[in-house]
Amino acid sequence: MAPEPVACFVVLGRQGSGKGTQCELLESKTGVIHISTGVMLRKAVEAGTEIGKQAKAIMDSGNLVGDEIMCGIVSERLAQDDVIEKGTVLDGFPRTPAQAEALTEILEELGIELRLAINLEVDDAQVIERMLERGRDDDTQEVIERRLQLYEQETAPLLDWFNSRGLLKSVDGSGTPEEVFENLSALVSS
Ligand code: ADP
Repeated sequence: MAPEPVACFVVLGRQGSGKGTQCELLESKTGVIHISTGVMLRKAVEAGTEIGKQAKAIMDSGNLVGDEIMCGIVSERLAQDDVIEKGTVLDGFPRTPAQAEALTEILEELGIELRLAINLEVDDAQVIERMLERGRDDDTQEVIERRLQLYEQETAPLLDWFNSRGLLKSVDGSGTPEEVFENLSALVSS
C-alpha cells in the first residue's frame, strides 16, 4: 500500500489575527514545517537579494507582491526535504485566488495533500489594536488600512474557494494564544 501523503494546512485570517503565533505552536507540537511568506520576504529584504529589493517598497506600502514571485518562492520552499517528510502549515500564502490555484498544482506535483484551511476569525477593531501594539515597519495606521482593504478584496474570496472544496473550517481567534490553539489543534487532528 502507498504511504499516506503528508499534509499541507493553510491558516487564513486578517493581518494581526495571530496566524504566525498559531502556526509556530502547530509546528512545535506536531512537527509540520511552518512556512511564512512574510518572514521569507522580510529575510530577503534584510539579505538584500534581488527579490528582497523588489519586494521592499511594495511591502512598505501595504500592497501585495506579485503572484509570480510569490509562487516561485513557495514552490521552491515546498520542494525541500523537510516539507516532503513532515508536511507543512502555510501562513500568508495563498493570498489571492491565483495563488490558491497555483498551490493546488504545486502540491499535486509534490504528492502533498491539501488537507484543510483554517480561518482565524478576529474582527477589524481587534486586529488593528494588535498590529499597532506590534509596531512593525508596515504597522502604521495608513498601511494597516491598505492591507486590510486588500485582505477583503483579494484574500477573503479564498474562504469561498476553500469552502466550496470542502476544505474550510473556522476558529474563533479572539482568545489567548493557548485558547485559540486548543480549538485549532482539535480541527487539525480530526
Ligand atoms: P500581514 O499578514 O500582516 O500582512 P505578512 O508578514 O504575512 O503580514 O506579510 C507582509 C507583507 O508581505 C504583505 O503586506 C505583502 O506585501 C507581502 N506578502 C506576504 N505574503 C504574500 C503573498 N502570499 N502574496 C503577496 N504578497 C505577500
